Order: sequence, then structure tokens, then C-alpha cells
Amino acid sequence: MFHLISINCRYSHSCLALFYVRNALEKQLPEQPLIFSQFTINDPYYATLLRISGQSTKAIFFSVYIWNHRFIRRLINDLSRLRPDLSIILGGPQAPALGELPEQCTLFLGEIEGAPEAFYHDLEKGKLQSLYRAERPQTFPSPYRREDFTGALKNRQLYYESSRGCPFSCSYCLSSGSKGVRHKPVDLVKEELTALIAAEPMIIKLVDRTFNDQPERALSIWQFLINRTEQVRFHFEIAPDRFTEPMFKLLATVPCDQFQFEIGIQSCHPQTLAAVNRKMDIEATCRNILRLLDLNSIHLHVDLILGLPFETKASFRDSFNQVFRLAPHYIQLGLLKVLPDTEISRRAEEFGLIACSEPPYEVLATRWLSHEQLIELYELCECTESFYNNRFFRSLWHYLVQMGEEPFAFFSELLRLCREYDFFQLSRTHKLMVRILTDLVQKREDRELLLDLLRYDWLRCGYRTLPEYLTERSQKELRNRLRDALPQNVEDLFTYQTRVEFLKQASFIELSQEAMQFLGLVNQDNAEGGLVALLPEQTSGVMKFNQTMVLPPCL
Ligand code: SF4
Repeated sequence: MFHLISINCRYSHSCLALFYVRNALEKQLPEQPLIFSQFTINDPYYATLLRISGQSTKAIFFSVYIWNHRFIRRLINDLSRLRPDLSIILGGPQAPALGELPEQCTLFLGEIEGAPEAFYHDLEKGKLQSLYRAERPQTFPSPYRREDFTGALKNRQLYYESSRGCPFSCSYCLSSGSKGVRHKPVDLVKEELTALIAAEPMIIKLVDRTFNDQPERALSIWQFLINRTEQVRFHFEIAPDRFTEPMFKLLATVPCDQFQFEIGIQSCHPQTLAAVNRKMDIEATCRNILRLLDLNSIHLHVDLILGLPFETKASFRDSFNQVFRLAPHYIQLGLLKVLPDTEISRRAEEFGLIACSEPPYEVLATRWLSHEQLIELYELCECTESFYNNRFFRSLWHYLVQMGEEPFAFFSELLRLCREYDFFQLSRTHKLMVRILTDLVQKREDRELLLDLLRYDWLRCGYRTLPEYLTERSQKELRNRLRDALPQNVEDLFTYQTRVEFLKQASFIELSQEAMQFLGLVNQDNAEGGLVALLPEQTSGVMKFNQTMVLPPCL
């Protein structure tokens, strides 16, 4: 019996490779029974080991990635002593980085569809060699079967590739080694996606490294997906400077939340981009991101990388500011990982790269960033990750951008305060974050306006009451006042029959004239402060806030 094992990051993830390997083994060695198991890196190690070692299997297969490398290394060490008779086959992008392996291990390089015949022959005989190299296959049909969707893939994210390889060659990426991109025929992609969609998963992630590298093809697949009525979300990794007018025209019709895009900018510094072989038109990128954001229907996740060659504190600051001012829904600030066998790892000395010696090989210093500077920037990134990547302070970020304030300077000040609060050691709750921000704005001249924005955002994200340090008047007080003062009917809000329910369901806030103006809740010429109701119904668009209604001015 063979045991196929995936060690995922989270329970909701799945492992595409596991299904490809299953199909290849069943085709080549149909007599051999197979079992497969899915674990996560957060599962208790000992119990996981026993669930593997307790099976009477002849061979086990692992797919090794940067996130599970250490876990698998540990399993190999223990399994090889417990079961010296067991064959351990290691594939996946990080398998070569496992280093020296026990004798019973076999390294499999390349794609399973291109495995040499000798591999299956030796596997069957139980006489595997230490290394096999696969030929590059031209086809890679979807590995899923209908029963997978109700079995191993139930309640998990589905991954699908409509192409393999990447047209780019970023020097820090393992995908840059692949020569050329192999695209599946569009009709086949549609057919395979139809089968996946029929299973109605929450999300299907297309793992194509650059989904829109062929605009016509991307358009055709998007059009097909947009016409579907199932409530499935699709995730794409896209090149932001490869958008065409027909793409924008089509994307303007995509239902809200059906698509999400991950966009790697990595740096806005031309010398840095050149040094890592990234060809990107930053101006076109920013322009296109703004156009996509304008649609307010596609979740945009934008990546920057800290620690790239030629990236100084000043140039990173500039990249940070540029991306922040675009106001994407999510800003991911990742660290450079100096992966073995990448071009950047071969040039580590030239770039003065010091990185962790174990996966995921995060950068610690570069010729352009001392370790101390890197710590500072890393913590600023952590701050951004916590404070920015949620819905809770969107009006504040909008204000910073509108006022021309420098985001990096604001976040540097926020970082100083976070350290005072010991933020990185504590549970990063929204309450703690709003408390720190409340503190931060205390000394500013625009303090009152910013506190109003924090209050407004808090309530429109669905909280029913304000935290004590943001409260001026309690919800109870406001409700009592409104109960007495509100007329029996207010058009578009309630009738005398629904008045009580309205008072119960809505949250209320009193905002200054300035805040009302900034939030666009009153006409500029006729501005007054006043009362606002936040209703339980949500707004359309990506962020889904509670709906806002301005109450009549007489109150
Ligand atoms: S575009 Fe993405 S997948 Fe392609 S080489 Fe660059 S980092 Fe790797």
C-alpha cells in the first residue's frame, strides 16, 4: 500500500499535487492500494507521526513546500528510524532543499506526469534509487474526480491550474526556473472548471502564476465565469500592467465578490525591479489598480517585498507610500525569502544578503538595509498588516490620503506607540488597535475630527457600542433622546409601525459638521453636524459596511 500525505498550512487548504500523484500512481500501478491523509503544520506532531507510522505502507509520498519543509524534515527523521523498510518519496519545489536524506528517501524532481517508467518499475519492486528526474509533460489534466469534492476536498479551498510556468523570471522565485508557459486549451479549462464549480466550493484559487499573460485567453475564461450563477469566488494572480480595455469593460460587469485579484508590485523602485529581473510599468500598474478599485466589486490584494536588492529605507518608504495611497483592500508586506537554487541566492554575497539558514529563509540584512533598519521596517510592516488589513479604520486611511499626509510617517509614529503598548506581544484585537489610534491622535490639531472618524468606522463595521475611551455619549442616552424626539414617520427610514424596531436595531452616532462633510454625509454648502444611524443592512461593494442614514436635522 502507498500512503500519500499532504501537510497543509491550514485545515481549509488542500494540496493539488496530492491528487496529481494519486492519478499517476493509479494509472501506472493500478494493483497498488492507495490511501491519502491531509494534515496541517499546526497539528500536534506526535499524533501526526503515529497516524503515519501506524499504517502498514510500503511507501509514503510527501510534497514539500516552504511552509511544511520543517515539519516534513522532522517526520522523515523519525520515520526513517522507526521504519527502515519504508520508502519515502519526496517531491515538490522545496524537496531538494531538504539537504542530506536518510538512505531510504528518494528525491523526485519535476512534474509527476513526466515521471520516467523506471520510477514506477522500481517503486513496484521496492528498489527505488535516490533520485529521479521527470521529463517536462505537455498535458496536465485536472486531477479531481467527483467523489473528491464530497470526500477529501469537502469544506476546503480548491486549487486549479489552467497553465503551468511563468512568463517572468524574478530572481527570487522558484517558478522563474521554468522555461515558457504551457497553457491548457481554453475549452478544456472551461470544461474542467465546470466540474469544480458544480461542487460549489466557497472559493476556487487559480494557481496560474500570471493568469492574464494572454489577454484574449483570460478574457474568454473570465467571460465564462461571469456568466455562471453559482455563488463561487475565484482568485487570480495577475500582472497589473497587462490589462487591456476589453478586460476593464468585462470586469465592470463582474458581480461583486465573484473575483479577487492578487497583484505583486514588490517594489516601486526601478533599480530594485531591474536587479530582480522584474519588468513592470509602475505607472500603468498604479493606474490600472485605481481603475479596478473604482469598480468596487473585486477584492484587491497588493504585495510588496521588504529586503530586495537596492531597496534602501528611503526607497522602501516611497514604495510603501505609493501603494498605501492607492488604497487597495489588502496590503501584504512580505519579507524576501532567499530560497536555495534561485538566482538571488547565487548572488547573495554580491547583494550582502544575510538570511535565516532554515526555511523559509527570511532575509535578515542586505547591503542597503542594516539588520537594525530591517527590524524597524519589519515592525512597521507588522503594524500595517494588523491595522490596515481590516475594515475598521478605512475613513482614517482615506483622510490621511486626502490630506496629503505621508502614510509612512503616520505608521512610524504608530509603531512607536505600539512598542509602548507592547502591541506585538499582546493579542491584536480591534479594541486594542482603536485604543492605540485614539491615543495617537490625541495631540493632533484635527483630533476631534479623527475621533469622529474612528467612532463612525467602529459602528459601521457592526459593533453596537463604542469602546469606553471613544464614547462621548452612550448609545442608551442617544436612543432615549431619539425615542422622545423622532417623529412617527421618517421617509426611507421607518414608519410608525417600524419605529420601535428601528430604534432597537440601529446604532447611532453624533458627528461634527467637519466629520459629516468629510464623510460626504451632508452637502458642503449646507453643512451641519448631526445624528447618523447605522443600520444592520450592509452596503454593496467589497467592504460591506453597515448602511448609513442621516437623521433629520431638527434632532
Ligand atoms: S511573476 Fe511571480 S511566479 Fe513569475 S517569476 Fe515572478 S514571482 Fe515568480
